[in-house]
Amino acid sequence: LSNGLKYRRILLKLSGEALAQENGFGIDPNCVRAIAQRIKQVREMNVDVAVVIGAGNLWRGRVGQNSGMDPATADYMGMLATVMNALALMDALESMNVVTRVQSAIEMHSVAEPYIRRRAIRHLEKGRVVILGGGTGNPYFTTDTAAALRATELKCDVLIKATKVDGVYDSDPKKNPNARRFEHITYMDALNQRLAVMDSTALSLCMDNKMPILVLNLWDETALIRALKGEPVGTLVSD
Ligand code: UDP
Repeated sequence: LSNGLKYRRILLKLSGEALAQENGFGIDPNCVRAIAQRIKQVREMNVDVAVVIGAGNLWRGRVGQNSGMDPATADYMGMLATVMNALALMDALESMNVVTRVQSAIEMHSVAEPYIRRRAIRHLEKGRVVILGGGTGNPYFTTDTAAALRATELKCDVLIKATKVDGVYDSDPKKNPNARRFEHITYMDALNQRLAVMDSTALSLCMDNKMPILVLNLWDETALIRALKGEPVGTLVSD
């Protein structure tokens, strides 16, 4: 590629927990700043960055559903929560002089642009970090699916799923000391073995559109940079 890197445009999927402390709840400005710093480094490498952010740190539809709420209502609350996270990330990036635009799949004109695909692409071409809030805009979906969808629509080269472990394992590395990390797995294996990569809707969408998924540890300060340079980092999910 002209930038000498493996990827020209990435979609970074951040779970809500990325913005929280160990306990996984709320928004910790220090965590947000640390993530913004990583994104800034990527921008400095001249890679286009779109971000899809989750909301598990604030609200998950499942929690409401389990306590008797209408699942769709509980999901809409989750989508609204992603916009709060999006604004927190926007704020941290802008304070580091990284230009951003927040677009929301649920219209709320006073805080974010509506999601408009061609406009998002335009922002990316101009070097702006596009932060996509509101998930897909539909209940019964996840922000992982939103990430798969947007990565495809925005013609990203890869969907980078940032997690707290350095890839996909055959069992939970926190529980099993002999857990083995995959350097590569196919979409089919990830689906069939129910490996904790992403939900099946998100995985299928990536498979159908040949969107590679790279699972890596965002807490490893250099992982993202090394991945962009094409070094073997994390787990690649592809055909
Ligand atoms: N959500 C939704 N539709 C979407 C994306 C998200 O209804 O397209 C809701 C859903 O209730 C979900 C919540 O928003 O539980 C937060 O998103 P997610 O669980 O994907 O966040 P993450 O696990 O990435 O922090």
